[in-house]
Amino acid sequence: MGFRSSRPARTDGEQLRLALAAARMGTFEWDLTTNSGRMSPELEAIHGLAPGEFDGSRDMMVELVHPDDREEFLAGFARAIADAGRYDTEFRIVLPTGEMRWRTAVATIVTDGNGTPARIIGVGQDITDRRLAEETLAEAQAKYRRMVEQLPLVTYVESLDAESALYISPQIEELCGYTAEEWVADPHFFGKVLHPDDRDHVLGEFANTHLTGDMYDGEYRIVAKDGRTVWVHDVAVRVRDADGNPLYSQGYMADVTARHAAEQALAESRAQLEQRMREIEHQALHDSLTDLPNRTLFHDRVDQALRAARRAGGSVCVMLIDLDRFKEVNDTLGHASGDVLLQEVARRLRTPVRESDTVARLGGDEFGVLASGVATADDAIVLAEKLREAVAKPIAVGGLSLEVDSSIGIAVAPDHGADVETLIRHADVSMYVSKRTHSPAVYSPETDHHSRVRLTLVADLRRALERGELIVYYQPQACATTGAVRTMEALVRWEHPVHGLLAPDQFVPLPEQTGLIRPLTLYMLDAALRQCAVWRNAGYDLAVAVNVTGRDLLDLHFPEQVAAAIERAGVVPEALELEITETTIMTDAARARAVLEALSALGVRLAIDDFGSGHSSLGYLKRLPIDVLKIDRSFVMNMAQRTDDAVIVRSTIDLGHNLGLQVVAEGVETEEALAWLTELGCDSVQGYFLGRPQPTDAVEWIVRRLARRLPPPDERAASG
Ligand code: C2E
Ligand code: CA
Ligand code: CA
Repeated sequence: MGFRSSRPARTDGEQLRLALAAARMGTFEWDLTTNSGRMSPELEAIHGLAPGEFDGSRDMMVELVHPDDREEFLAGFARAIADAGRYDTEFRIVLPTGEMRWRTAVATIVTDGNGTPARIIGVGQDITDRRLAEETLAEAQAKYRRMVEQLPLVTYVESLDAESALYISPQIEELCGYTAEEWVADPHFFGKVLHPDDRDHVLGEFANTHLTGDMYDGEYRIVAKDGRTVWVHDVAVRVRDADGNPLYSQGYMADVTARHAAEQALAESRAQLEQRMREIEHQALHDSLTDLPNRTLFHDRVDQALRAARRAGGSVCVMLIDLDRFKEVNDTLGHASGDVLLQEVARRLRTPVRESDTVARLGGDEFGVLASGVATADDAIVLAEKLREAVAKPIAVGGLSLEVDSSIGIAVAPDHGADVETLIRHADVSMYVSKRTHSPAVYSPETDHHSRVRLTLVADLRRALERGELIVYYQPQACATTGAVRTMEALVRWEHPVHGLLAPDQFVPLPEQTGLIRPLTLYMLDAALRQCAVWRNAGYDLAVAVNVTGRDLLDLHFPEQVAAAIERAGVVPEALELEITETTIMTDAARARAVLEALSALGVRLAIDDFGSGHSSLGYLKRLPIDVLKIDRSFVMNMAQRTDDAVIVRSTIDLGHNLGLQVVAEGVETEEALAWLTELGCDSVQGYFLGRPQPTDAVEWIVRRLARRLPPPDERAASG
């Protein structure tokens, strides 16, 4: 081994003693028969004695032992002798200097030939350093333990292959009601107290960190002894030896139930806040009456649909739906009934459309539909008809059964516009067309131009009235059998300085602009009655027919104004016929009836215009003071082609006669139509075949040729 000592070689005994001295060890011997003993010099040195200083007596031996340990020291000896066994003990000794040290005694009892204990031989070692180290360690441990057990935390130590703790600090009892002893006694305790919802994942995570050596840092619930749920924050680390091998795991658990409760309260109030925000947002984007999306949301959805269509290709169909004469329902039955009606309409509009389609209330009685999967105008019309039918079924409101007609305007992107504003504007234009045609209308650029002109014109109407740009055209109505003209219908025209001659459908205000109707009606009344006076003064037996609207008939002052106009013109009241469309009468029958009765009392004749185009019941008309029924021109014009129209014309003539009314057929365009109507017994005819509406000068020759002469004034007075 290449190791060379510089000293001369020693004997084995010498070497052993050197080794014993180095290990602070010495040997001893005790003779039980003489009760005296001997220590090796090394052991004497441990006791602070010079070699040979130990006198071998029991007394000195006992003297060397620390007084507190003497009793146990002697008892130990006695036990070893009694058992004839081994003796192994640690005790304190006192050095002559007074210093206290620790030594061991490991000995064997040697027996004599009879088996009686004779001698004790053994080894003693100074273990003061080790004891001191152990004490320091124990003190330190006790100190840390005290500290740990004072913390408001539960600390624990866990072996790496166990589920539960080896040690857990007593605070655990405060945390969950179970004592540390209960906890440590059962290796599966932890798993048992874990909240069922957390058990699997927490045990899994722990097992995983034991494997990887990662730190565990998590929160979970445990169920306390009294059933409470306790939230625990648990942090655990792996403790390793100097070589990095994991030894055990240690960690702490803190009760974070209060924090969790606070967090939960916070989360709840945040959720409430969010809910409230959502409600506010919903309110901002929905109509409160029907809960349908409002105009803002509708525009937004159309915008999104257009973007999606631009990206992915495809079309977007927008419809605007307006309820006809809703305002009158509202005015007559009250707002509460109007609301019920709107809610029902909203509900019905949802049925024909897809779940993903949007039905919105854009305001008042106007609704919007954004429909997907509607690519062509034909598809759109099909859907629009379904919507119209859904709305048209009778709705029970305030004890009445109302049939609600609707106008539907349609625009389909990209053909009819690529942005929201254009698309909706074009659907709006079509809606006005639909109002006139009484069927859903798809956008077309021509009608758009027309409608735009119309809107500006309506706005200019008042000025036109003041400037006298409105003129009256007359269309004759003749007796079907004799051909004699008895009545001239006054039809308005506008000689527009820019647009030229305009027909009434281009500017006669829609129900929405009712404020302009009265001035127009009064203007026409005055003009027609004045012209009538001219003809009558020239000796022709002519009456004039003037068109009035529902708005006129709802005003109880209207009869006075008519009376005043008749008086201004100076004609007999019988020379005036007022034409009222059947739909206007049905809207507010009670009020209209009062006005009609007042007018009839004046002596003015009353005609139902466009008969057959609405849904009025003849039974009801019977109770009104009506004199004339004008069959709608659409039936008359189509009589030759459509048998059902012919049937309608024939039965209307019969019905009118049964009610004692004069029947007039409008739209007589051909000789055949005239002949047939004559055969059916129709009283009067009106239409292009007899003459188109024309200005006064142009109808003058008709008046001279076809109007009957009035009897001379004296005869008139006599017969009147
Ligand atoms: P209306 O009261 O039914 O008037 C008859 C309409 O039928 C007139 O159109 C006339 O030109 C047209 N017509 C007459 N005979 C024929 C025919 O044989 N074939 C065809 N295809 N059409 C015929 P106009 O003058 O354009 O008036 C349209 C509507 O405008 C009128 O329908 C009436 O509802 C309204 N209107 C006209 N003037 C006035 C007015 O002064 N006040 C009000 N409130 N409305 C008016
Ligand atoms: Ca008319
Ligand atoms: Ca008519």
